[in-house]
Parts: sequence; structure tokens; C-alpha cells
Amino acid sequence: MMDFLEEVIKSGIGKVEQDVFLSHYTTYKVGGLARCIIYPKNVGKLVELMHLIKKYSLQYKILGNGSNLLFSDRKYENVLIHLGNLNQIEIIRNKIIVGAGYSMIRLAREALKKSLTGLEFAAGIPGTVGGAIFMNAGAYKSDMGYIVQSVKVLTPDLKIIDLTNLELDFHYRSSFFQKHTDYIIIEATLRLKYGKKKSIEEVMAERRRRRMETQPLDFPSAGSVFRNPEGLPAAGKLIEDVGLKGLSKGGARVSPKHANFIINAGGASADDIKSLIEFVQDTIEKHYHVKLKVEQEFVNWE
Ligand SMILES: Cc1cc2nc3c(=O)[nH]c(=O)nc-3n(C[C@H](O)[C@H](O)[C@H](O)COP(=O)(O)OP(=O)(O)OC[C@H]3O[C@@H](n4cnc5c(N)ncnc54)[C@H](O)[C@@H]3O)c2cc1C
Repeated sequence: MMDFLEEVIKSGIGKVEQDVFLSHYTTYKVGGLARCIIYPKNVGKLVELMHLIKKYSLQYKILGNGSNLLFSDRKYENVLIHLGNLNQIEIIRNKIIVGAGYSMIRLAREALKKSLTGLEFAAGIPGTVGGAIFMNAGAYKSDMGYIVQSVKVLTPDLKIIDLTNLELDFHYRSSFFQKHTDYIIIEATLRLKYGKKKSIEEVMAERRRRRMETQPLDFPSAGSVFRNPEGLPAAGKLIEDVGLKGLSKGGARVSPKHANFIINAGGASADDIKSLIEFVQDTIEKHYHVKLKVEQEFVNWE
């Protein structure tokens, strides 16, 4: 790893952070040390970085805004790549071309400025464009699958190609990328519709109000923990009905405001959060004979 990092620095690939706490890079505000986080300056430098990762046979992971990740408390020894520098945006009529590192919340605001409708759902999603495409993030019966026209990716053999919406295989909180984790999202082309600025603004304000009212946004979390099961009430309702709302393990707590959120109520470890998630999952399985699917991704637990 030392030789690799030296070569990364010598090649001017971009900023390199070493031995930093993942709690600063995840919305749960937990996680152990990361050996390194590398911020390639542009797509060319990302390609160079991937060549070096291959040369040294290292493992890597792309880090978006860390709003859907639960890293363990252990040290993460692989390479983390942050695409914060891929944050260009170009709006041509109703088409938006945007870098993978761009913030979804900012993107929703930019669309509003141009009276473009279709991104209202994104105004409360604290992720990046790359993370949102990976997850097919969505809300209010809409998601990335409705607006993504194509995505520019870096393939495992380091070619840059475009994948169309159809190829991206978008379904409820799932996409092509979850089965092909060696593809890197570089840029997305979105197609929106023209709308009325005032009504777009009203929809966004009303949803913001609803989120503030129903979600524990004053505590660190990673949004909804479980997917809603088919043919049953929403996960939050099931958790509330079995009496787990407000339950704590260490610093982790089932939110008293919204039972499908687990919050870091103060000083939680990643272990606290994971064991609370598993406890809730087991309890629901005992009561309803259904295993709730975790929407968040556990990293570095094996
Ligand atoms: C308060 C709160 C509210 C939320 N509300 C919602 C909601 O309404 N709807 C919803 O769907 N989600 C919601 N979330 C969850 C989360 O914000 C989304 O899943 C988001 O899309 C994750 O984006 P990210 O950039 O943080 O990705 P990360 O969490 O950093 O990463 C998620 C996955 O994407 C991969 N990835 C990231 N970028 C790339 C890339 N460029 N190329 C390839 N892979 C990549 C990562 O490796 C990882 O596997 C919420 C979270 C919070 C904290």
C-alpha cells in the first residue's frame, strides 16, 4: 500500500487522505479508520488511478456521500475513491449532464431554477448522483429510473462507455450497478420535463415540511433502514406495532419519531447500529414470518 500511495502522489492524481475516521464521511457518523481516501482530479486521473489499483492488485470502493453505508468500527484497509471533483453540471434545455460527485440536493435546486420538473423527489436525498444511480434512490413514487437517460461509466477493463436507461435495469432501489460493482459511474444524462416554477417549488416545500415533521433529521442516520415488504404494512409500522420504537442499544436507537430510522443518538458505534438492525429484523421475523430487507450496505464486516 505504501508504494501504491507514493505512486499516486507522484502521479498527481489528486488529494490523498490517510488514516482518517470514516465517521467524518458517513451520515451515521460511525466507522473506523480508513487507510486512504483518494480524490482524483478528473476522469483522466480516475483512469490512471484505476490502472495503479490494478497494477498493485488492490481492492477499492467508491465513496459517495456515505449516506447509505454502515462501515464497521474496524480499520478499512482497501482504497476508497471519492468522486467529489466530478461535479460539473451542464443544462441544455430539458437535458442535464451532471458528474457523479454532484449533490442530489443541489441538483434538485438547479432543476427548479430552470423550471424543470422530475427531480422534486431528490430535494431531501443527501447523496451524490453516483450513489443515487447505484441505489436507484427515490421517494414519492419516483426514482432515478424515471429521469436517467444514460450513464457514462468506466468499465472493469477501463473503457469509458455509455449505458442506456434500459441497460441500467432500474427497479425499486436497485440498478445494474449493484450486480456490477466493478463499474464506476462517471456522469449521468437526465431528461426532465418543463413545469411551472411555482408549483415545483411548492411541491418541494411541502415535502420538506413533511420530512421535517416525520423524520428524525436532527440526528445522524442513513435514512430508512428496511425496504417496505410486499403485501404488508410499511416496515416502520411493523416495527412500531411490535413495540420497538425508541429501543436503544448503546448509542443506537430506533427513532421515536419514525421507527424505520435508526439514529445515532450520541456516541453510537457501528456495532451498536448493526446489532440493533439485526435485533429489529429478528423480532419482525418472529412476529410476521418475514425477513425485512436492509436497504443500507454493510461495509468491512466480513
Ligand atoms: C436523512 C436521510 C434521508 C434519506 N432519504 C432517502 C430517500 O428518500 N430515498 C432514498 O432512496 N434514499 C434515501 N436516503 C439514503 C441515501 O441518501 C441514498 O441511498 C443515496 O442515493 C446514497 O448516495 P451516496 O452518494 O451517499 O452513496 P454512498 O452511501 O456513499 O454509496 C452507496 C453505494 O453507491 C456506490 N457508489 C457511489 N457512487 C458511485 C459511483 N460513482 N460509481 C459506482 N458506485 C458508486 C457506493 O460504492 C456504495 O456501494 C436517505 C439518507 C438519509 C441520511
